[in-house]
Amino acid sequence: MYVDTHAHLYTTDFDADREQTVARALDAGVTRVVLPDIDASTRQAELDLADRYPDMMIPLLGIHPTSIRETYRQELAALEKSLATGRARGIGECGIDLYRDTTYHRQQRLAFEWQLRLAREARLPVIIHSREALREVCAILARQHDNLAGIFHCFPGDADDARRVIDLGFLLGIGGVVTFKKSAMSDVIRALGIHRVVLETDAPYLAPAPHRGRRNESAYIPLIAAKIAELAAIPVDDVARVTTANALQLFTTSTT
Ligand SMILES: [Zn+2]
Repeated sequence: MYVDTHAHLYTTDFDADREQTVARALDAGVTRVVLPDIDASTRQAELDLADRYPDMMIPLLGIHPTSIRETYRQELAALEKSLATGRARGIGECGIDLYRDTTYHRQQRLAFEWQLRLAREARLPVIIHSREALREVCAILARQHDNLAGIFHCFPGDADDARRVIDLGFLLGIGGVVTFKKSAMSDVIRALGIHRVVLETDAPYLAPAPHRGRRNESAYIPLIAAKIAELAAIPVDDVARVTTANALQLFTTSTT
């Protein structure tokens, strides 16, 4: 069995065939799917999907860094209101993304630190999104990682960065990028093995080879697992066992 630790199956990309998408995931052995939040505009669709498949979906609440703008205080207020319902099994995805736009860098940082505090107070795991910001994100975590655990989603660094993130108590989320030629993730897997790895698709984005460029979905998790098994020179069953145990431990034991 597999856990997809990062899939936005509630977006409109899946409106035409959401049920079949879920069925294909189950057929592929993906029995649990973590649903990271984006912002207030997608939250209800996410929670509706989680209600529909309560034994399969694990809903998180949070604000994606690219949704942080001048209205970020309203976003944070809406998030806290949603959190009060007790539905969240984790916080995220949250972090800093300076890839396309640095206008709201300061607000992104404030909102990220705010969400880390919420995670600590609620003792919830956190899913981190970092793009062009790994050094800053690690520095923030180094200051306040006590009582925090979580996943660095679509892990963006090299082997040294990976060691640092693991030392901070975080897991490495590895997805379709590992199947691309010349992926830095190949070196990370070869250097560090899989003991702190979890699998993710980031559906509908970042589909693994041979589906690259098309819509991604949770049923592609075994393609990612097979590539990791090849890089680590271990049986794919070991990848399934270790990554599933890592994911379940994070989302079922740290929420007490
Ligand atoms: Zn995401």
